[in-house]
Amino acid sequence: MFKKILIANRGEIAVRIERACKELGIPVVAVHSTADADAMHVRLAEESVCIGGPSAKNSYLNIPSILTACEITGADAIHPGYGFLSENARFAEILEYHGITFIGPTAEHIRIMGDKIKARATAIELGFPIIPGSDRSIESEKEAQKIADEIGYPILIKATAGGGGRGMKIVHKAEMLAEAMTSARNEAQNAFGENRLYLEKYLSRPRHIEVQILADGKGNALHFGERDCSLQRRHQKIWEEAPSSILSETERTYIGNLATKAMKKINYRGVGTIELLYENKQFYFIEMNTRIQVEHPVTEMITGIDLITEQIKVAAGIPLKKTQEEIQFNGHSIECRINAESSDSFLPSPGKINYFHSPGGFGVRIDSGAYQGYFVPPFYDSLIAKLIVWGKDRSECIARLRRSLDEFVIDGIETTIPLLKKLTRSQDIIRGEYDTHWLEEYLENEENLSLSQKMGAKNPPE
Ligand code: ADP
Repeated sequence: MFKKILIANRGEIAVRIERACKELGIPVVAVHSTADADAMHVRLAEESVCIGGPSAKNSYLNIPSILTACEITGADAIHPGYGFLSENARFAEILEYHGITFIGPTAEHIRIMGDKIKARATAIELGFPIIPGSDRSIESEKEAQKIADEIGYPILIKATAGGGGRGMKIVHKAEMLAEAMTSARNEAQNAFGENRLYLEKYLSRPRHIEVQILADGKGNALHFGERDCSLQRRHQKIWEEAPSSILSETERTYIGNLATKAMKKINYRGVGTIELLYENKQFYFIEMNTRIQVEHPVTEMITGIDLITEQIKVAAGIPLKKTQEEIQFNGHSIECRINAESSDSFLPSPGKINYFHSPGGFGVRIDSGAYQGYFVPPFYDSLIAKLIVWGKDRSECIARLRRSLDEFVIDGIETTIPLLKKLTRSQDIIRGEYDTHWLEEYLENEENLSLSQKMGAKNPPE
């Protein structure tokens, strides 16, 4: 096992990883930017090292600084969390060269899955159904036009290096294709430093279903069931559930086994997530994430397994001992993301948290780095807390989520709590009838309603 783990991340996920390390009896080193000197992940760690200025480029993405922090503290492994360097194949290689373990998959697997075209090709080889689309990057508008005509509109332009929902453009008719391609290229170039694009058929009413896997690089692999992450705004998840309320037991077993078989075939090591869309009872592979995901706790809540602990163990070379039959599912879990942003405009709302009261009670878990008096810095993503609840079934889980959100008080900054409270009262959500477009449509209706109410107030009937 490792002597000391350096956590190359911040916020709730750094705290989450620290907790797992402490329970394993492994000392941790926190790294932080100058803006995060007072952060919870720094306060809870045995040791901490400042690695640079506020911008992520100077700190959490600064490989030389992170290596120096390892050298100074004697850490023999790095946990990258999610985001930042977690899917950087070069970083994994550099660590290997320096004799430090990267708690994640091999650089080769990161590379294959990080390029969405290579990932699509690999998915086909592994037997996953995929969405009709281009099998290589699109060079010209003419080529795009030809493929789009073949698969039929609407189509989705995607960045091969995509992530976080960026670089995606929906095109409803041929006349819009050229402009959408230019805009997707620019967005991809800015976000990922490369601008290759490909096309996919745009599915009109899909659910987002993903399968959690764990493999040891020694031929053993397990799946931990699925998560349903269909409630999204701008292709970003805000509410995640396990299990999905729409899958049958047969579908669950089918997709889980397909994922496990695939991981064994490529001899994968680490945790990972196979992301799929599901429409008209068909699964379609969209990507694989080769790291721990924000929404992993819902899987932990229904399986009773600490995924980060398992991730650390396989990185240390300990073979998986559990069999698939030993992974049992119990009850239902929902996670919602509490972001420091306005519930209406979604504009970031950094600043000081004057009052912080988090809910508690049976089946309630908070993963957060926030506390009363904490200053939410403007430099990073706006996730400040995750509220995760468990219930014996979906309806108990929603009732518990509703009362937990009603207890949650964060003052001083705006958060997404008001929106989440409304969602727990939506009949569509209560019935489980929603797809990946539902939230955008709901928000549009809300906006129209509030506009017409404002207009009504200004122009009272005569
Ligand atoms: P990213 O890597 O940027 O997160 P993904 O490929 O994982 O991008 O897709 C994110 C979300 O975008 C999906 O959950 C889904 O809501 C939407 N999406 C992606 N591909 C399609 C598609 N072909 N049709 C409809 N929606 C899609």
